[in-house]
Amino acid sequence: EYVWLKDKIISRHDAYVHFDDRGYYFGDGIYEVIRVYDGLPFLFDEHFERFLRSAKELDMPLPYSITTLKENIRHLLQKNDIKNGYVYIQMTRGEQIRDHLYSRDIIPVITAFTKEAEIPVTKQTNGISLLATEDIRWLRCDIKTINLLGNVMAKRRAEDYYCDEALQHRGDIVTEGSSSNIFIVKKGVIYTHPANHYILNGITRQHVFNLAQEEKIPIFEEAFSLEETINADEIFVTSTTLEIMPVINIKGSIETSLQPGTITRKLQQAFKEHTHAG
Ligand code: PLP
Repeated sequence: EYVWLKDKIISRHDAYVHFDDRGYYFGDGIYEVIRVYDGLPFLFDEHFERFLRSAKELDMPLPYSITTLKENIRHLLQKNDIKNGYVYIQMTRGEQIRDHLYSRDIIPVITAFTKEAEIPVTKQTNGISLLATEDIRWLRCDIKTINLLGNVMAKRRAEDYYCDEALQHRGDIVTEGSSSNIFIVKKGVIYTHPANHYILNGITRQHVFNLAQEEKIPIFEEAFSLEETINADEIFVTSTTLEIMPVINIKGSIETSLQPGTITRKLQQAFKEHTHAG
């Protein structure tokens, strides 16, 4: 198995990062996870647009052009012969003796690995459960940083309550999952939290806006409350690895049970038609 480290594609066994990497000290880095269907990266440009945005927001220079980054990823996917799975790419600010104040002279460190992974079809058919828990994260959730402790804590808590994913809420307002975006459907209309600093603007989330428009289903970026979640006709979450996932149970701050709905099914179907896997 090969990985990408700095400017080389090397064996995973030989891949070590530096003691003074700022990613290690401060979580000072960004990342992307890109789905691969039939050997082809899905929504590749969109992921790199977001990568570039995260880099800009954190004042990190890119050591390579987007074109080179994409070429290297394609090369890595080929070397590892990935058919269906994903690629993870990360960029930390670089190596520097520990200091909160970062230097602008250091070179960012890029690492990437690939993984074969099944589409979670059983869960997509049956639905998943969420643990509703307070969103304790910082106020720049729009940046896809590797500093993910709030998300990690929410995910662990969800699992401890036998739930698949977290539903995070700030007070009464539902924000997003630990690594997914959350949607509700009420009277044929889809709602999801606006893409501001409280959530990560998911690439799958953005894709759902296109799918809904194609299917002529009204969709709005409008924040919704815990009570509106209880009263929703349908609930689903989206992410690169989950795709479109119906929610059938919520525990924690709110409790509710429901069935995968017709709009969720329509979107799932439309999603399948867009992926290379068909
Ligand atoms: N929200 C958070 C906090 C995430 O970490 C992720 C993905 O990991 C998402 C939403 C979904 O984003 P995407 O659809 O780009 O995978």
